[in-house]
Amino acid sequence: MRIEELPTPCFVVDEALIERNLNILRGVMDRTGCKILLAQKAFSMFHLYPLIGRYLAGTAASGLYEAKLGREMGGENHVFCTAYRDSEFEEITQICGHIIFNSFGQLERFGDQALAAGASIGIRVNPQCSTQGDQAIYDPCSPGSRLGVTLEHFRPDLLERYGVEGLHFHTLCEQDAAPLAQTVEALEHNFSPFLPQMKWLNLGGGHHITREGYDIPLLEQVIHHLQKAYDVQVYLEPGEAVALGAGFLVTSVLDVTQNAGVKNAILDASAACHMPDVLEMPYRPPLVHGGEPGEKPHTYRLGGPTCLAGDIVGDYSFDQPLQVGDRLMFGDMAIYSMVKTNTFNGMPLPAIALRNRDGECTIVKEFGYEAFRSRLS
Ligand SMILES: *Cc1c(COP(=O)(O)O)cnc(C)c1O
Repeated sequence: MRIEELPTPCFVVDEALIERNLNILRGVMDRTGCKILLAQKAFSMFHLYPLIGRYLAGTAASGLYEAKLGREMGGENHVFCTAYRDSEFEEITQICGHIIFNSFGQLERFGDQALAAGASIGIRVNPQCSTQGDQAIYDPCSPGSRLGVTLEHFRPDLLERYGVEGLHFHTLCEQDAAPLAQTVEALEHNFSPFLPQMKWLNLGGGHHITREGYDIPLLEQVIHHLQKAYDVQVYLEPGEAVALGAGFLVTSVLDVTQNAGVKNAILDASAACHMPDVLEMPYRPPLVHGGEPGEKPHTYRLGGPTCLAGDIVGDYSFDQPLQVGDRLMFGDMAIYSMVKTNTFNGMPLPAIALRNRDGECTIVKEFGYEAFRSRLS
């Protein structure tokens, strides 16, 4: 069916746009010999894993469930978890080739089990190099952060005991290659004595490689430098970059109301339930054919149908007045959207559709009342 015929709300992921991103990432792999993994936290549309698996080296998981899903792709299966549970670790060792620990306490607790299973063990370090200004919520290097081992608490004595083969850091968020270069400098400053003993180095995610204007040559220079200086296999595990700009959320206008000078359009999509990052980050998602407030003749505040006063996507302007039944398309809705949906207020979850190269859309999944009920008791 055509995109106009889809039920709303509906996430639509565009296969050609995903493949465009995958080609860029594959180019980095081919030119440098680094391996790129899909960080499933950002995008877990497993329907596309066969396609993604043809380009990337595998998946990165945040715990057991994502690791199980990542196995469906069939490539390398890496896992980093801030803290593993006793009850899940055995299964993790059976399905993950690379297991990364967030502390030496976790290494001492689970290291022998991981070793016995033949996993390659890594430690997440904290290079204490903040590169994102005041966005503390997205800065694993903020003072006192629980993410990664700082030099002060590093335990060189345990590296050999557990055969640690890799170091991992993840400190970037939607950033270019210059902050990466700066972070690698900090890493070398703090941890260079241990780098030559490593087989691999994982530079985490947050690299906006597929964004227009990203400095790919600098990224490749950093990778080449690490390979040459320490003879390591370099891994990157971007999430956003895999599906950046490749998805939409299609929604319908349910009502138009007025309060004082503000025209409100009530949508069948909710910021709180279907695009929570709009409220959490916060940010204003792009809207196809939507202008800045006041830029076009008709300005509306777009909000969800929930009872949360702040369930507002933002103010946008249009050439024509909005009518009940009009369809709107928010852009960049593949990443950190369908992985974060919830059914607060009894909201239906958006369907998930795929648009192929000819513009034909196929509904991959629909959710009904049962999806809401099954999470409650
Ligand atoms: C979030 C995360 C990623 C992916 O980050 P993006 O910003 O989506 O590229 C990769 N690795 C780790 C450990 C993460 O926490």
